[in-house]
Amino acid sequence: MTGTVKMSRIAARTVNPIRRIVNQLKEKPNPNLSWIPLSIGDPTVFGNFTLPKTGSESLQKLATGYSNNGYVHSAGTEEAREAIARKFSFNPKYPITANDVVLTAGCSGALDIAFSVLADPGKHNILIPRPGFSLYLTQLSSRGIQHKYYDLIPERQWECDIAQLDTLVDKNTACILINNPSNPCGSNYTRKHIEDLTAMARKHKLPIIADEIYAHMVFSGQTFTSFDEISNDVPILTVGGLAKQYMVPGWRVGWLIANDRQGQLSEIRQGMYDLSTITLGTGTLTAAMVKPLLEETPEAYYREVNRQLEEQALTVFEELKDEPGLKVVKPEAAMYVMMSIDTEMFKLKDDVEFTNELIKSHSVGVLPGQCFEMKNFIRIVITPPKDKLREACSRIRDFCAKRRSIK
Ligand SMILES: *Cc1c(COP(=O)(O)O)cnc(C)c1O
Repeated sequence: MTGTVKMSRIAARTVNPIRRIVNQLKEKPNPNLSWIPLSIGDPTVFGNFTLPKTGSESLQKLATGYSNNGYVHSAGTEEAREAIARKFSFNPKYPITANDVVLTAGCSGALDIAFSVLADPGKHNILIPRPGFSLYLTQLSSRGIQHKYYDLIPERQWECDIAQLDTLVDKNTACILINNPSNPCGSNYTRKHIEDLTAMARKHKLPIIADEIYAHMVFSGQTFTSFDEISNDVPILTVGGLAKQYMVPGWRVGWLIANDRQGQLSEIRQGMYDLSTITLGTGTLTAAMVKPLLEETPEAYYREVNRQLEEQALTVFEELKDEPGLKVVKPEAAMYVMMSIDTEMFKLKDDVEFTNELIKSHSVGVLPGQCFEMKNFIRIVITPPKDKLREACSRIRDFCAKRRSIK
């Protein structure tokens, strides 16, 4: 033995806020009640959300052929990149081509390339949302890129605090990341807000990373607006993927799109390609599904997914919106509902203790807001079946009532 092998500084500084918080959830579920996890952001867990039927048929064909087993270009096949370019071109003045697209290992892989291509470790900072998807912090901390949080305002349907954003930009700011529709908020921004954010980026001459993995997954009365559609001058890097829209998060297929305007991204485009060579891209068999999924999925599938998500999100909203001590923000999109908790009323220290006690007494799992840098909120995933959601909400109400009655 030569002693313990030490981990590198890169490994040591890679923090996953969800792990850090979840490790504090030490309580075991109540053994007398079935366990209902409203914490796992994976829509496939209960089997009620599935790949479109046309998709499983294409997959079977692809799997029995032998043409998708070899290496392809590290940025993905021309075929897949073309399909993405066609489907995600929202601005007729600046159509996306296959050359603007790089396929990646999940949307996570796309974010990693977007961060790395725009920012230098130890020098640049990137503005990220609070509350926000925790992976942003994990990747930035690992890469040694600084971050600054800007706030999303629950009273304004989780819009970005633009006045604050304005003050956060400094000479080392490389870009602003905006996630719309949002995980964990379940919000969908108005066209006006996307325009205002684009104007702010223009003023500071900054590119935007648009995390639009929930593109089009919005509820009735809502319209999804992409930054690509709105911007005529601000360069955008859009990230997306198959995971959420087609209910295949395990497939690890995502993409990064350079929405160039006046050639400002020509160097970045090259950088995206170069960075894709580090891991040689995504799995070829699942990536071969991009074209059939994007081009052959019937409209009815998208409508049905949105209808089901909305019905379930509104179930949670209706069940909990009048509960004293909870303030539920009405969901508009995606797969989540966020609510604040009145810790004083519940005689609890914070959202982590709320979650711990809820697990212990009522066997319902939620995620504390601290996983997303939002203390004294909780996030509920709305993809479990409706009867499970109702049961879980009724238990949450019972838990809240019991906590309120403690003298
Ligand atoms: C799920 C998710 C991702 C990551 O998607 P993968 O394709 O599974 O890597 C990125 N951004 C947001 C906001 C997400 O919710």
